[in-house]
Amino acid sequence: MDPITFGVLTISDTCYNDRSKDRSGPRLVSQIMQAFRNAQVVASVVPDENSLIQSELRQWINREEVRIIFTTGGTGLAPRDVTPEATKPLLDKECPQLMTAITLASLKKTTFAALSRGVCGIAGNTLILNFPGSEKAVSECFETVKDLLPHALHLINDDVALVQRTHAQVQGTETVEAQIHVCPHQTGVGDGRDRHSPFPMLPISVVMDIIFGVVQRTTCLDDDIWKTTSPVNIPPFRASIKDGYAMKSTGFSGSKRVVGFVAAGDAPCAQPLQEDECFKINTGAPLPDQADCVVQVEDTLLVSRDKHGEESLVEIMVEPKPQLDVRPIGHDLRIHDSIFPITDSSPVVIQSLLSSVGISKSLPKPKVALVSTGSELLAPGELPVPGKVYDSNATMLEELLLYFGFNCVRTVVLSDNLPETKRSLVQLFEKVEFVISTGGVSMGDKDFIKTALEELNFKIHCGRVNMKPGKPMTFASKDNMCFFGLPGNPVSAFVTFHLFALPAIRWSAGWERTKCPLATIQVKLSQDLILDPRPEYVRASVTSKNGKLYASVNGNQISSRLQSIAGADVLVHLPARSSECFKATAGESYPASVLRYDFISKYE
Ligand code: AMP
Ligand code: MG
Repeated sequence: MDPITFGVLTISDTCYNDRSKDRSGPRLVSQIMQAFRNAQVVASVVPDENSLIQSELRQWINREEVRIIFTTGGTGLAPRDVTPEATKPLLDKECPQLMTAITLASLKKTTFAALSRGVCGIAGNTLILNFPGSEKAVSECFETVKDLLPHALHLINDDVALVQRTHAQVQGTETVEAQIHVCPHQTGVGDGRDRHSPFPMLPISVVMDIIFGVVQRTTCLDDDIWKTTSPVNIPPFRASIKDGYAMKSTGFSGSKRVVGFVAAGDAPCAQPLQEDECFKINTGAPLPDQADCVVQVEDTLLVSRDKHGEESLVEIMVEPKPQLDVRPIGHDLRIHDSIFPITDSSPVVIQSLLSSVGISKSLPKPKVALVSTGSELLAPGELPVPGKVYDSNATMLEELLLYFGFNCVRTVVLSDNLPETKRSLVQLFEKVEFVISTGGVSMGDKDFIKTALEELNFKIHCGRVNMKPGKPMTFASKDNMCFFGLPGNPVSAFVTFHLFALPAIRWSAGWERTKCPLATIQVKLSQDLILDPRPEYVRASVTSKNGKLYASVNGNQISSRLQSIAGADVLVHLPARSSECFKATAGESYPASVLRYDFISKYE
């Protein structure tokens, strides 16, 4: 089955200003992913502005692979509602009956459906449908049309064979394989009969958008820091750039008497200076008031010393020039100028630039606590116990936080016990903004994390992600408290920490959004790899061969096998398997997230 790319465009001033308010877009995405096995989704949010809506729609219409676009929002009667007005001019053909079908179905639920003005139609080979903005309405509209969509696409594509098959099926003369994945067990209510997670499996990009929308930036790196100005000049005095002799540039080359010595740290000296005199001077020392240049020691000869052994006469071999080897006052940074030429959230940059102008300030970092859950966990150092396993996640995450420049305020180990989990979370959130847990987020009856969050009135933004490893990754928040529930398998915890928790902490610490995720590079595969139905993040080590980077997978990739992080330089991003492509071939290039600074293991 060929992949179909869907576009989901949320049109709302409110959601544009605060992505976390967008419920309808993510809801649509998850329904699409559940309804169509072969779906890929691009999603975006724009304000209620005709030109911006059209520009986003045009971009998608022009992309060959985007076949269906759902808009949500902006279809009502309010003055800012302009979605139909923005959509109509882009359509080659309108499909009013599709909208009638939606309206008829919606009217059965609520007469308010009569107030929606959405349009449907075809632009190029893309079907566009305007849905209302409410999460409930969007969900119902999607359910109404989802069965029609494959056939609509065949018609738009002029795919005669498939169209004929569908017609035959409608007339009862042929049975065709269902194009749509309907999962009858999936009640979505999470009760005892429901064998599936009630949480939609969200694409990674949607989860990232949610995280950046929800996590608040702490005050430590707010915009004001970038406006800090220097209280001093650098250098604060005229400084010698070389070890040599300071003199008057009017005095020509030749022999000069050495009348004094100036070392770094000495106060500027006001002693009078003649043209045939000089001071011996060190790099970084202040020029004597009457000198205006320095001749480096390499361009001089020692002629004589006095009876104490100090230099008394030197031969200057080059013509002195005004300002030669002198750094004027404020040369590197002038007083009152901005300390930061550009924004750069690296703590190395911030702390050292502040120090260079005399500002001593430690930047507060987001406070993070770690929780390992599992009644089976033993602390390293304890004697082995039947049925128990050693807790590697706590150590791994503590070290990862340190590696990326953050601290772990507290680490807690919890058994699989709901009241204890709730109590502990409440206590931790009194001290920290982030809690990162491992374990207890999947489908087991002892997996209490999501229940604990719900009972503590946290909003669970994401309970499953379409990725491998790491599917049950959970992200929840309440006020400014953020919770990451990473899966318990050590490799899943490793991958999801890098992909979700780290960017969130960096964002909170004031980093620019583009810098929050790990850096991405292109690597060539050293071997063929079979693709998984989910996008996969494969641990691999990197070899540089004549400047080209090759990635070799680190052995068995099962998510319990922590050994696969040994020598892991990167996470190679493999796409999900499709009907057209089931393997990644050696020599092909794929994006890869860089896990460590020393990310090249071998040079060949
Ligand atoms: P869970 O996500 O709680 O269902 O755990 C999945 C698997 O990961 C189980 O085999 C656990 O024993 C294992 N596991 C959970 N937490 C840890 C941990 N902190 N260290 C090592 N393994 C763990
Ligand atoms: Mg567990």
